[in-house]
Amino acid sequence: MGSIREKYTLGKTVFSCEVFPPKKDQIIEPTLQKLKEFKDISPDFLSVTYGAGGSNAGHAVEIASFINNEIGVDVLSHITSVGFSREKLDAGLKTFKENGIENVLALRGDRPAYMTDDEYAGRDFEHASDMASFIRDGYPDFTIAGACYPDKHFEAASYEEDIANLKKKTDAGCSFLISQLFFDNDRFYKMLDAMKHTGINVPVSAGIMPITSARMLGTTVTLSGTSVPKSLSDIIARYGEDDEAMKEAGLEYAISQARDLLDHGVNGIHLYVMNKPEVARCIFDEIR
Ligand code: FAD
Repeated sequence: MGSIREKYTLGKTVFSCEVFPPKKDQIIEPTLQKLKEFKDISPDFLSVTYGAGGSNAGHAVEIASFINNEIGVDVLSHITSVGFSREKLDAGLKTFKENGIENVLALRGDRPAYMTDDEYAGRDFEHASDMASFIRDGYPDFTIAGACYPDKHFEAASYEEDIANLKKKTDAGCSFLISQLFFDNDRFYKMLDAMKHTGINVPVSAGIMPITSARMLGTTVTLSGTSVPKSLSDIIARYGEDDEAMKEAGLEYAISQARDLLDHGVNGIHLYVMNKPEVARCIFDEIR
């Protein structure tokens, strides 16, 4: 499997989806079966999340290898560094390499509740940019991606500071970026403008999460901190009680977001469909 970065040079929009491995004490087989349904959707790549602290790292590697070898789709493996020493990160990267995984999304991650103070204090990487340069130097064949935030990362003191920090990430070796999910496309365009003015010239995929239930919106906003435009809250107010109508309206919202992004010539669209190939299919059928 080649470098995912090259897909952004072919003059076409790069379509990707994010999937997640089961928890470490859960069996993996049902997830593998479900992921097979992505084969005939043919995304440009699938990205596989990684539990901060590495608790389900084994499953993450198994899923990523399965996607590469059995499903035949390129894979981008997320990896986080929170609480990791250099040795631990290196061991994780080595395992990726041994399994033929050479495209990674370098993330700092957030401290998980179970991580002890000692484990947290033992971390060798403060930011994703620190791990990106470690990966670039130790694993020159790897393609490294990073995360960006149209609504600003919650810890950054200002929008400008967050974008300046993003430049450190791309300078450290992140050759493309995937955005946090957002519901207001103007935030994404504003971020692209700010990046351009800061000299960040790497391709960026826009993160879209189709909201298929009212409950899902609450959880998503809490986890991502993204803002909800009135047009989306109106949809929830109108259809929130009716599961089928809500699902349809949520998909329609995501499709119209994606169409507008395509009209603006985005480099890529990354769907947060979380192991639901049927949702990805609905959207890709409409926009590709
Ligand atoms: P960083 O880039 O380190 O940024 C964190 C904060 O530090 C920001 O406020 C930034 O402005 C600042 N900063 C960055 N670099 C510097 C620097 N060099 N000097 C000073 N300040 C700096 N989490 C998981 O646990 N597992 C996943 O699989 C996962 N996948 C994700 C995928 C995507 C596309 C996105 C957008 C997020 C994902 N996350 C995941 C969540 C992510 O781990 C959190 O958002 C985390 O809080 C920040 O990670 P980061 O890599 O952006 O951190």
